[in-house]
Amino acid sequence: MATPDTPRAGSSRSAPEPGRLSINTATVRKQWTLAQIIEGCARHGIRGIAPWRDQIAEMGLVEAARAIEAHGLRVSGVCRGGMFPAPDAAGRNNALEDNLRAIEEAQRLGADCLVMVVGGLPKDSKDIAGAREQVKEGLAALLPHARAAGVPLAIEPLHPMYAADRACVNTLAQALDLCDAIDPQTSGALGVAVDAYHVWWDPQLEAQIARAGKSRLLAYHICDWLVPTRDLLNDRGMMGDGVIDLPKLRSRVERCGYAGMHEVEIFSELDWWRRDPHEVLDTCVERHRSAS
Ligand code: ZN
Repeated sequence: MATPDTPRAGSSRSAPEPGRLSINTATVRKQWTLAQIIEGCARHGIRGIAPWRDQIAEMGLVEAARAIEAHGLRVSGVCRGGMFPAPDAAGRNNALEDNLRAIEEAQRLGADCLVMVVGGLPKDSKDIAGAREQVKEGLAALLPHARAAGVPLAIEPLHPMYAADRACVNTLAQALDLCDAIDPQTSGALGVAVDAYHVWWDPQLEAQIARAGKSRLLAYHICDWLVPTRDLLNDRGMMGDGVIDLPKLRSRVERCGYAGMHEVEIFSELDWWRRDPHEVLDTCVERHRSAS
């Protein structure tokens, strides 16, 4: 526990700008609909939001766009595109079609980026190298559409524990290698999402953030890593409750020129999804200031 004599790591750094806080709607999705989350963010003085596509579909794209605009919220990202690998050509084509719809949605919402969770192994496959090749091909096919729509694609490397079922891109270096291979001219249409939860442990993190630079760093997601973590998917911690030095990470991200939102993304079956959503948002605001 921090006491007055032992300040929290990073506490000497300046606090983040409150206006950079964004809420990924997963954080209160168990309690609220998208319409309620939009209103809730505005009511709590939160300036950004990152909606999930199932919630957009439920509310209706036109209505979601209207409400987000009416409340003056910036869309820090749309979750999510990707999921490229499939057992056959028809499956890969379906994935591409779905990604084209995701780009349209992100464009309609004026999103800063479309977050790409690239997908894991196709059913019954043990070929992770092949899955990674499919991801590369899928991104390359999608990129011209993203560029035409003005919606940057942000590849989000996921922690390796999700390599089989969610994303076979697992480090920032790997994501940036993909960017360099597919978009060597650094057009601005392809980059990465740095999610503290997925990459905090990486010995190359600092160097790879510097490598990404302003032109590739499209999104910054925050929460904390709890010890112990009781569930592989739905036990993310509130900022300040775990072991990630978030102020230090933010200073790295800002040093490379990132000027986008700080998006809080917490999946928490055992804790935050069980709380009053107003309390959750109040806590996000406070911890963004004091522990991020
Ligand atoms: Zn994320």
